[in-house]
Amino acid sequence: MSNNRTIDKEAMYKKIMPSSNQTKIEEEGTPLPQPTPFLQPKVLVNVAELAVKERIEEAMEKFKCCQCDHCVKDVLALAVNNLPPKYIVRNELDQTLEIRRYDADVISALVNAVIKVKQNPRH
Ligand SMILES: [Zn+2]
Repeated sequence: MSNNRTIDKEAMYKKIMPSSNQTKIEEEGTPLPQPTPFLQPKVLVNVAELAVKERIEEAMEKFKCCQCDHCVKDVLALAVNNLPPKYIVRNELDQTLEIRRYDADVISALVNAVIKVKQNPRH
């Protein structure tokens, strides 16, 4: 008899709750609050800046540019200022794809910046 009751309850929950909760109900007979993808924190990202940061070390090394804090930040500022800003809203983990698409512009901006700083370091 108690079995029947549980099944009724499950059927009711399935009607009321959004479909994403169905798995949990089937497993445990009780609905649990679950985090949905919509609740993941979103971040505002300038893809240009991210892409430059990802490549900056490699670029400075190739050109044998000084990599002290001041020079790295000068290169970063120069390169990012020479790229059109591209802001996107993303989940924190979702950013790498966007960076890849931006590669060609980033590399040329980065190379120009590294050359400038190397010729005229401010440290
Ligand atoms: Zn330096």
